[in-house]
Amino acid sequence: MKAEIVAVGTELLLGQIVNTNAQFLSRECAALGIDMFYQTVVGDNESRLMDAFKLAASRADVVICTGGLGPTQDDLTKDVLAAFTGRNLVLHEPSMNAITELFSTRGIHMVESNRKQALMLEGSDPLHNETGLAVGIAYTHEGTHFILLPGPPKEMKPMFTKYASAWLRSVMIDEVPLYSKMLKFAGIGESTLEHQLLDLIEAQTDPTIAPYAKEGEVTIRLTTRAKSVAEGERNLQATEQEIRRRVGDHLYAVEDVPIETVVLQMLGESGLKLAAAESCTGGLLSDLITTVPGSSHAFIGGIICYSNALKHKLLNVPMDVLEGEGAPGAVSIETAAILAQQLLAVTGSDFGISVTGVAGPSSSEGKPVGLVYVGLAQKDAEPKVVTLRLSGTRETIKHRAAKAALFHFWK
Ligand code: ATP
Ligand code: MG
Repeated sequence: MKAEIVAVGTELLLGQIVNTNAQFLSRECAALGIDMFYQTVVGDNESRLMDAFKLAASRADVVICTGGLGPTQDDLTKDVLAAFTGRNLVLHEPSMNAITELFSTRGIHMVESNRKQALMLEGSDPLHNETGLAVGIAYTHEGTHFILLPGPPKEMKPMFTKYASAWLRSVMIDEVPLYSKMLKFAGIGESTLEHQLLDLIEAQTDPTIAPYAKEGEVTIRLTTRAKSVAEGERNLQATEQEIRRRVGDHLYAVEDVPIETVVLQMLGESGLKLAAAESCTGGLLSDLITTVPGSSHAFIGGIICYSNALKHKLLNVPMDVLEGEGAPGAVSIETAAILAQQLLAVTGSDFGISVTGVAGPSSSEGKPVGLVYVGLAQKDAEPKVVTLRLSGTRETIKHRAAKAALFHFWK
């Protein structure tokens, strides 16, 4: 299946915003086994958008369009698709109700143009907008599958991943039966993982191997042509085995779940409790865990012991370990081990994870940016410390450290 992205917006042409939607959608399509052949950018202009639709429909099976679903005059995408397909725009009642309700609870007057956001093409499938007002559209016209998504990434992404991709998969099953499987990795960077699989990725035809990284996790989607799950599994077997042989040490799931979910499942089964002591991650690890519903069953809580004073005061790390001539320092195996071990005593938890490191941008205690120690403690056992050497910006290092810490704990 060949796809084309049509990003609508004069702001894109003027260079006022970057077309991150196209990047996101291209990756998602690759993961779905859809070939992206073209990316088009067109301004908020009726006739040029019509031309873009005509051209896209002539050369692609799937046309994914973002932007121009809003209430204002320059939002034209639905009108142009209506003109292109010769269909009317009709009101999508549930969206209209949601819009009316929102305005009335906020006590603001609703203007007529807001109605526009609830319009859909007659006979099309509505795509629910969880984070905004404009309803999306999925519609097949003379063999071309059109998907209309809102411009704001925070609306576009959930609409695509939750609704549009399912719609696409359903139309694809009819036309090109595909079976895919996700392999999830952590504690390894995307480039290292890709490097180890490079010959497989370069030689791929069927199954296709699509790796993509997201905040400290790497996903590989394997896709093959198959008419049943059994046939799909058979087709993937050899490739999956080879991938496991090379990088299986970092594999934590064969479905699309984040590492924190897997950690909580493991704890849930054992009935044991976890606590965290975070320095350089500043609470991110605890945030990841508590984002999973039901985490309170297994997660006691976390201490953000950012300063040396707090590491000493709350978790009893001796000052002469933390600082002074010849001391190991806050970023050290010793500190990571004591933090994790002390969590058990202080919180009564069964397990303790600590993270201490240099997130950057400059080095600290003469230690390089990206050096992170993860302490892992467990009742009646010696604490273990894992050394990470991460790269990236301050933000990415924090994310990678939190995810890697969870991964090493799970292992
Ligand atoms: P709204 O209801 O906000 O008007 P819309 O669906 O009409 O949404 P646009 O008006 O085209 O979308 O764009 C709204 C905003 O969404 C832009 O100002 C920009 O911040 C963001 N946006 C639009 N297109 C893209 C894109 N291709 N990549 C990244 N961001 C985008
Ligand atoms: Mg708009």
